[in-house]
Amino acid sequence: MKGLQRLRERMVQEQIEARGITDERVLTALRQVPRHLFVDEALQAQAYGDHPVPIGLGQTLSQPYIVALMTTLLVVRPQMRILEIGTGSGYQAAILAVMDADVYTVERIKQLYQTARTRLLHMKYFNIRVKLDDGTLGWPEEGPFDRIIVTAGGPEVPTPLLEQLADPGIMVIPVGATKRDQRLLRIFKKDGRIHQEDQGAVAFVDLVGSHGW
Ligand code: SAH
Repeated sequence: MKGLQRLRERMVQEQIEARGITDERVLTALRQVPRHLFVDEALQAQAYGDHPVPIGLGQTLSQPYIVALMTTLLVVRPQMRILEIGTGSGYQAAILAVMDADVYTVERIKQLYQTARTRLLHMKYFNIRVKLDDGTLGWPEEGPFDRIIVTAGGPEVPTPLLEQLADPGIMVIPVGATKRDQRLLRIFKKDGRIHQEDQGAVAFVDLVGSHGW
C-alpha cells in the first residue's frame, strides 16, 4: 500500500507537475484515486507508468498525463453535471467524481460497462451514473451538461453532444479526419456561439457509433 502511494506521488510529480500542470484540484484528484485498482491485477505494477494501460477488448486506460490534461482543460467545479463518453475502466469518471462533480458516463462495450459499474460501486463513487449505449448520441434525458469529455476519437464532433452541452459549457474531445491524425479539441459554447481551440496531437482508441467511426 505504502509502495503504491509512493508510486502515485511520483507519477504526479514527474509526469504531471513537471510537465506544467499546476491546477491543485487536478493534482489532488490524481493523488487521491487509486489508479492501480482500475486495471487487471496482473497489470497493477504498470498502472503508474508513463503510458496507457490495456483494459481488455482492445481498449486502453489513457496515460496519466492525458487524463490530467483533459481534466484541466475541462475546468471542473463542484456540483457541475459532467457527461463522459467512453467509461472504459472508470478511472476518468472517478477523477471527476472526487472533484465533486455529478458524473454521467456512457460505455458501448457491455463487458467493460459491467466491470466499471461494479468497480465504481464497490469503491463507493456514488456520484457516478453509468449507462450502456452509443455515447455519440449523448444522454438526452439527463442533459444539458456543463461539461462533456469524450475519451475516444472519432471523425467529427457528434452533433447530439453539441446540442446537449449547456450554455456556457465546455467540451473536450479528440477528433481526426483519419484514425491516425487526431487533434484534441476544446470547444466552448457561450451566448449561443461555438468557439474551438486546438490543443495538439493525441492518439485515442476509436469512437465507434452513429456519429463516430
Ligand atoms: N475514460 C476511459 C478510457 C477508455 S478508452 C478510462 O478512464 O479508462 C475509450 C472507451 O471508449 C473504450 O472503452 C470504448 O469501448 C469506448 N467507446 C468507444 N466508442 C464509444 C461510444 N460510441 N459510446 C460509448 N463508449 C465508446
